[in-house]
Amino acid sequence: MEKILEEVLNSNRKYTNYGQVAGYIPELKKAKRDDLGICVIDKDNNIYKAGNWDTKFTIQSVSKIVVLAMALMDNDWQYVFSKVGKEPSGDPFNSIMKLETNDTKKPSNPMINAGAIVTTSLIKGASLEEKEERMLKFFRKLAKNDNLGINYDVYKSEKMTGDRNRAMAYLLRNDGFIQGDVEELLDLYFKQCSIEVDTLDLARIGVNLASYGVDIETGERIIDEKVSRIVKTFMVTCGMYDASGEFAIKVGIPAKSGVGGGILASVPNTMGIGVYGPALDKKGNSIAGIKILEELSQKLELNIF
Ligand code: GLU
Repeated sequence: MEKILEEVLNSNRKYTNYGQVAGYIPELKKAKRDDLGICVIDKDNNIYKAGNWDTKFTIQSVSKIVVLAMALMDNDWQYVFSKVGKEPSGDPFNSIMKLETNDTKKPSNPMINAGAIVTTSLIKGASLEEKEERMLKFFRKLAKNDNLGINYDVYKSEKMTGDRNRAMAYLLRNDGFIQGDVEELLDLYFKQCSIEVDTLDLARIGVNLASYGVDIETGERIIDEKVSRIVKTFMVTCGMYDASGEFAIKVGIPAKSGVGGGILASVPNTMGIGVYGPALDKKGNSIAGIKILEELSQKLELNIF
């Protein structure tokens, strides 16, 4: 398998020349555009790695699936979906438009920033510190990595430049979709986006979702089974920003991307995959990352459809 991963990486290396490293958060510009890495963990807990699999990057929007799982386990689902919708928006991840034009003004889904800010607000905890602690604990458990932590330079950079998210959060509070202190909530949201991971961490979270929430090593249930299904469904319908339809056709695997260059893919009952390639297309997806997943899906017949 490692040979296959090397081959797939090498045949798609040319795509690192296309697109741009994310620039709207200044710290993200520091990523090396030709870095490329992959890690696969299969259902028997075999781990395969290739390229820059251990390069650290921030999780960014990939965090939205973990926080959605947490929000659904912390709250009554009906309540969660009274605050955030279930439909693809077809708009860019940071679009504010539908918060005004949707009939209900409800954010379309938990994978766009507005919806993700809502799910972050649903994390339970008596104080901001407690929420942060619970959140990090959950990420660490899912990634099986106690060293997972926040990259404070990226966090500060996000906080300083996050006015779009700030604007959305204030609108959301005005319309009753979130409550409480907006700045505190955004603090938590920026921290969740700034968690530093590598492809091994993403593959581990992916395999935990692939096994319907059960840790394949210990048998411990980490995510409620139905919640793991909901999360993977959102990954299919909205996980690759407004390119999710095309990705579903080409690759056919539940996946979530982030502007840090990571993609987490989860093949039900089969494997978790983490890919890293920081040069992004206009929609915010790793160009080489998508190409790698496309080839891997064909070679290993991973398409779930
Ligand atoms: N922290 C980023 C933001 O809220 C996440 C974006 C992403 O990865 O899509 O703008």
